[in-house]
Amino acid sequence: MENIIALKSLLSAPKDIVLITHRNPDGDAIGSSLAMMHFLNNLGHCVKPISPSEYPDGMGWMPGIDKMLITDEHPDAVRSGIEQAELIICLDFNSLDRIDKTGEMVNAQTSAAKVLIDHHLDPEPFADYVLSDTSASSTSELVFDFIHLLGMEMHINQQVADCIYTGIITDTGSFRYSTSAKLFRTVARLLEFGVQDVVLQDLIHNNLREKHLRLLGYCLYHRMEILEEYRTGIIVLSKEDYARFDIQRGDTEGIVNYLLRMPMVKVAAFITEQPTIVKMSFRSKGEFSVQEIASQHFKGGGHRNASGGFSYIGLWPTVRKFKELLPQYQDKLLLD
Ligand code: 5GP
Ligand code: MN
Repeated sequence: MENIIALKSLLSAPKDIVLITHRNPDGDAIGSSLAMMHFLNNLGHCVKPISPSEYPDGMGWMPGIDKMLITDEHPDAVRSGIEQAELIICLDFNSLDRIDKTGEMVNAQTSAAKVLIDHHLDPEPFADYVLSDTSASSTSELVFDFIHLLGMEMHINQQVADCIYTGIITDTGSFRYSTSAKLFRTVARLLEFGVQDVVLQDLIHNNLREKHLRLLGYCLYHRMEILEEYRTGIIVLSKEDYARFDIQRGDTEGIVNYLLRMPMVKVAAFITEQPTIVKMSFRSKGEFSVQEIASQHFKGGGHRNASGGFSYIGLWPTVRKFKELLPQYQDKLLLD
């Protein structure tokens, strides 16, 4: 914690600052980045927020999102931003491998101080300043802690507060998990800074198009498999499904969570066929760790109750591999 406070002097004069978040950014990735951007702008810094890949359309309303630089689309602008940066702040991911090409650019940047603010397990030691707390609901909650640690809450305006609130809502499923007394105290502070919670909840949740609801219906009616003996639910989408429903990045967000709505389901897996990999999203309830399954068997990681990974062995062999792993977890899965 102490070294974060040392950043206060670094931030006392205007600087070129780059913010980086993870690929396929979610509400917490974008929320924490934009909250930090607005806060640092309020202090007089020049800030460039970067995402390795495009953000979902549904986030288009977020204040300042038009400032995001996307590596996939503008690699040269991102590279020169990172080269010029005097400070690089990484938000909502724990290892530079997770951000591929953007990570290589950061590795090549040797003069800028690097900061990591994150709530994932096992952060890699690449940053000079670290605020890592796996008990935090979200990286956005940690952005609030960061500002508080610096004693700079007076620089929080409504835009900062709205972005932090959005990240918290996204990563807690609207206060259904990863909550704490501290989180609710933070949220109370955010409301005092002017967050319009009902308006934001509406913007965050009620932003689907007809094709999203039809895709959800298809997943639940045709593509869901419930393995009662393992208290596990699986949804699988093939390349053909992607074409049929014209599925774009972000369109499948949140589908995996529906499996957990059955009281008996403890583990949910959403397995999709991508152009070169098979991507897996895992969710669990309670003590059961999908982080262990993702990291040990599918080159991934994340949190105990929300993790992801991938494989190169094709769609159905991946589904089979996942199912074949379940017997070794059966005892844990049947525990209540
Ligand atoms: P999602 O299922 O929403 O894509 O991801 C859930 C969580 O798992 C996120 O916190 C994310 O950081 C983590 N995650 C997803 N995919 C991967 C992956 O391929 N590797 C690692 N290390 N973490 C992942
Ligand atoms: Mn997060």
